[in-house]
Amino acid sequence: MVGRDGERVASSSLKAITEYLGVDLGDKHHTADADAEAAAMVMENLIAGAIEKGWSAGAIDRETRTEFVEKRRKDFEDKVSKFEEEKEQYLKQVAEQGGSDSLSSGRNASDKKIYKYGQKSDDGKELRKTQSDWLKGLSSKQIANLVVPESENQHMNMLLDDYLPNGDNEAAGFVEALKKNLLERLGKSPWSRGDYSPEAIERMREVVEASLNSSPKLKWAFENFGAPSFVMMTKAGADAYENQPHVRAKKEQLMSARSMKNEPFVMALQMADMDLIVFNRKQVVDQLTNDPDFEKSPLVSDANHTVRPGRANIDVSSSATLSHEYGHWLHMKAMRESERTGSSVTGARFGREQITESRMPRVVSVAEKYNSKDMDEMMGNAYRSSIPMDRTPGIPRTLTSYAHTNGREMLAEGLSAFFHPSENVQKNAINETLRRDILELLGLEPDDAPWEK
Ligand SMILES: [Zn+2]
Repeated sequence: MVGRDGERVASSSLKAITEYLGVDLGDKHHTADADAEAAAMVMENLIAGAIEKGWSAGAIDRETRTEFVEKRRKDFEDKVSKFEEEKEQYLKQVAEQGGSDSLSSGRNASDKKIYKYGQKSDDGKELRKTQSDWLKGLSSKQIANLVVPESENQHMNMLLDDYLPNGDNEAAGFVEALKKNLLERLGKSPWSRGDYSPEAIERMREVVEASLNSSPKLKWAFENFGAPSFVMMTKAGADAYENQPHVRAKKEQLMSARSMKNEPFVMALQMADMDLIVFNRKQVVDQLTNDPDFEKSPLVSDANHTVRPGRANIDVSSSATLSHEYGHWLHMKAMRESERTGSSVTGARFGREQITESRMPRVVSVAEKYNSKDMDEMMGNAYRSSIPMDRTPGIPRTLTSYAHTNGREMLAEGLSAFFHPSENVQKNAINETLRRDILELLGLEPDDAPWEK
């Protein structure tokens, strides 16, 4: 959509967004404008790409977003009953059609049965990323098999389910436009392209399964909030990432700051717009680490692990890296919720069952609080001045240095400590302020332990 000043402006109208994506839907968009949820999800992607597309920073700053959220909430409330009605109709229609890729198979029912993405589980649930609790009731192995796609095409289908959970078969052109946009993004960031060799898939599944087995809390989170796709980066992708000038500069800075002999590498990345976490082969296959004090990066964290103050990270294991990146993913998922619908929408997607309507505004506000990519002066000063972390009430802290980089890293490191199998780490590596915010993000009271059930 072209604004009054002749610039393209963000719009929540599906038609406008589709025009922005460069595809004409013809007359197929007629019901789509009313579908606030589908439109807002595309919006999330546009916001994720806003900087790259050269939009002004105003398009993504907090005030603009708050206005957007307010407007969205009102629009949504106006449309919610209509939407619910349409959704019912749509689901009925899908049920009648039997779902196009559901390969239901009632044979060999057992806990260990491995499902493929899109199949129906034995209790008749379609295993697709259309609700945040789509992994509920599954074993670690079953989850690992579902969240590690076997091909880019499968990843793309999962992504479309994530963005368009209600289908949208009427607007086929729209799905194509979104798919084209996402493929272009993959092309621009080769580090988000997966290595789909059998070895890479097997290794990634092993990492996910072992991480979930090591932490009942993490497994509980996967079952209640869902999970992104996990892939291993290709070598070319990892090289391309690390050869970007800003990454090179950061690496050199790190090497001198920590007097490292070997070049540091990116262990893993979370990409909210791709609903994806990618791991570097150097960590999950070669077991290298950026911490000169550790010889190798183990698959899972030790249940007796302790964190010495001043370390860079909570832990160097693949499972700790996974829970850190998963922490970023949870955070961005909550942010997407605030972009999509405002706080009144009761966590229809973020922690659908776990987050009640009354808790949703707190979830969004914690997500907003930590949504900073800039150095946080207060956190940084508190860390540098070596004030013990229990003496800085109101300032989120960890024992480690990396968390103090910015709000996003603080929350991710905090969640990595929260999900860590070691009780010592859970209790002592983060302060009360950070712990309270994490509990609120996850819709928990201090004494809740639903993972123990
Ligand atoms: Zn991080």
